[in-house]
Amino acid sequence: MLELVNRGYVYRAIPISDEVETYLRQCFGADRKMYNLHVAYLYNYLEKNEYQIGDKLPSLKKMGMPTVSAFKKQSVSDDNLAYLYLVDAFASNEAKQHFNKAITAFNKIAYKKQYKKAALKRQKKLGIEPTFRDLKGMPKFHARKGSKASYTTFNQNGNIYMENDILYLPSAQKSSVKAVGLKLHTHRPLPQGSKIKNVTVTMNTKGQFDVSICVEFSKEITSIGAPIRIMGLDYSQSHLFVDSEGKKANYPQYYRKMKERLAKEQRILSRRVKGSNRWEKQRLIVSSLQNKVANQRKDWLHKKAYALANRYDMIIVENIDLRAIGQNKHYAKNQQDNGFGNFRLYIKYKLEQQGKYYVKAPKGFASTQLCSTCSHKNTALKGNVAVREWDCPSCGAHLDRDINAAFNLKQYGERYTKDKILPQIVVA
Ligand SMILES: [Zn+2]
Repeated sequence: MLELVNRGYVYRAIPISDEVETYLRQCFGADRKMYNLHVAYLYNYLEKNEYQIGDKLPSLKKMGMPTVSAFKKQSVSDDNLAYLYLVDAFASNEAKQHFNKAITAFNKIAYKKQYKKAALKRQKKLGIEPTFRDLKGMPKFHARKGSKASYTTFNQNGNIYMENDILYLPSAQKSSVKAVGLKLHTHRPLPQGSKIKNVTVTMNTKGQFDVSICVEFSKEITSIGAPIRIMGLDYSQSHLFVDSEGKKANYPQYYRKMKERLAKEQRILSRRVKGSNRWEKQRLIVSSLQNKVANQRKDWLHKKAYALANRYDMIIVENIDLRAIGQNKHYAKNQQDNGFGNFRLYIKYKLEQQGKYYVKAPKGFASTQLCSTCSHKNTALKGNVAVREWDCPSCGAHLDRDINAAFNLKQYGERYTKDKILPQIVVA
């Protein structure tokens, strides 16, 4: 079957001229400026309307938020910010969408009335009462310094294209920069016949540019038919996962190993005067160390996912709410380090590419509590993570918590094959 596949490719990029670099920086600036205009308007609105902590934020419409073009007009006449008209219009428009997303995200947690740690510290030490601006998740101003800058632009009638390893992006009508070119380091070419859908340009804190190109292409995918080699993966706090054959993932704790070193470098950073030359130098050390850990981790996860997807026809994973675990303070560190969520995605897409099966067990499936021998449900295990091994009260089987769970997932997959997949294959 011919299927449309979307995929992202990330490349290090170098602007082909100083004018192009300036142009890109102005795009980031427009995105940030437009976002900040929205935030300023929001704060002003909340102050005027005596916002109560715990309340949701009103919709943009209810606030009477000006349109992007109204904001542009106003900025040009008030502050002479003519550059807003000289950059890609998508940069400004994206800001509005990001702002909208930030509001939606905040509204989900507004009832918690949680303040940021820094604000609570300030209150304790200096007696300064926190305000709505200090609420966790409240949209806040984007600073120019020290943060990653980015903007996204979309392909319209072929105005984004590649030529000799140079990626060309659209410019603004009024801009003097006609060819926004970035020389790419293409270690991995875009798939043959792929269509560029959108491009996100980012500049990291070192001032290096990256582009993330989202492409669409069609690919012939043939189903493998009935799956034979089936594997269950149970999420594990300490090992990333345990599989239904009893093997642990052996996840190298890169982050933990590097943690001490990182902590040391961060301490040095905190002692330096913010914004000074020595501080800037140290900041680069810290950020490249963080980058290194992140890259190693991603690389390892991809390789592991690749190996599993090649070996098995169907993989069943737990439908676990990783966000809830991430918020648990005892687990948060470890969770950041092992990225099971990304791992699931990598496996899914690597299996589907080969016409194989990725199955997420349903939310209610109690993989941990079921006895994989007799299906008795041992509710005493619920929330009790300390129990690593147990004896089934019904059949007496001695079970390892994680392996048993992985085995249950595998069995779920086997049933799933009979119920959902096999009939389809027979019909086809
Ligand atoms: Zn049993």
